Amino acid sequence: MNASPNLLDMDATALVAFCTQLGEKPFRARQLLRWIHVNGQSDIQAMSDLAKSFRNKLASSAQIFAPPVLKDSTASDGTRKWLLEVGGGNAVETVFIPEPDRGTLCVSSQAGCAVNCSFCSTGKQGFSRNLTPGEIIAQLWMAEFLLRRDLNQTERIISNVVMMGMGEPLLNYEPVLTALRLMLDDNAYGLSRRRVTLSTSGVVPMIERLARDLPVALAVSLHASNDRLRDQLVPLNKKYPIKELLTACNFYLKYAPRDFITFEYCMLDGVNDFDTHAYELIKLAEQVKCKFNLIPFNPFEGSGLKRSPKQRIERFAKILTDAGVFTTIRKTRGEDIDAACGQLAGAIQDRTKLAQRTLKFTAKRQLLNQGVSSNDLNVETIRPYS
Ligand code: SF4
Repeated sequence: MNASPNLLDMDATALVAFCTQLGEKPFRARQLLRWIHVNGQSDIQAMSDLAKSFRNKLASSAQIFAPPVLKDSTASDGTRKWLLEVGGGNAVETVFIPEPDRGTLCVSSQAGCAVNCSFCSTGKQGFSRNLTPGEIIAQLWMAEFLLRRDLNQTERIISNVVMMGMGEPLLNYEPVLTALRLMLDDNAYGLSRRRVTLSTSGVVPMIERLARDLPVALAVSLHASNDRLRDQLVPLNKKYPIKELLTACNFYLKYAPRDFITFEYCMLDGVNDFDTHAYELIKLAEQVKCKFNLIPFNPFEGSGLKRSPKQRIERFAKILTDAGVFTTIRKTRGEDIDAACGQLAGAIQDRTKLAQRTLKFTAKRQLLNQGVSSNDLNVETIRPYS
């Protein structure tokens, strides 16, 4: 594989440094950004307003490389899902959800996930590795320009990005931050902070860090109304219980582009959908400005969980709404191509045992270096060559 730097890995600052290293003026970085992210150009030689000598230098020292598309499916409701190959037998998924007034792209941040939420099919496959900044931004790059080409449109199609795909974005912090900078950069995608949402299972210290570094809209996967239940559904809660999570949310709100946090709540039949849970949520909502998004669970094989009946979800929403808590019920999209929330799995079956072991070992070491306790991880404790 070509080991030259991938220009998709670079935000504006990194591109300026790279151009300087090649003996070029900093403004070349802006030109490059625009060619790549505004025009979707991947052929360096086609960047016509760059001097031929610079193009030659670039072409021999860098590449523009996006993960190959393994599968491209469109659901009956127009939802489109891509399976992208990220090497080592791993694949990640990206989902585009068209709506009359917006186009939303759901982006993955990791291959697999170590958090191991009990209702999530990504969590069940374990963690393989963090995505690079290029692999994250390439999802937006690929989707935007593929959609424009297929729909024969020159106008922007993706207006909103949600970091709600595979992985816990705050456990892959720096690459996610670089990708977010590109999403917001006027010389790249120019999205407003309000239209970029990061969803976390509640990595408290990193919520506070994101608030200072680059506050975009924040969604928190709450899914339970008390610690006892949340410890079971979102194991990270044992490390960062609800009280600490709410304190972090209030801190985030001082910087956030929206004046509320969205709490995601997956509706699980007979587990977290009793009236008492709704009343407990009302108490939580008194402590932080928030809105609730109730997500009908999308069952997957082996989960042992069922979706709450429609009437139950509606009653739950009514209890919250009657108490003045803004609540929506998420419309399920893309079910016929397994693109609905919590259904992203992405595992491809031909991974070799050695590749799998090596990647899991590296991944575990990376996460432990970030201060995550090994008890919180769904990563096998194995050495690559044992
Ligand atoms: S819900 Fe999110 S954090 Fe939890 S296992 Fe799935 S991808 Fe990971």
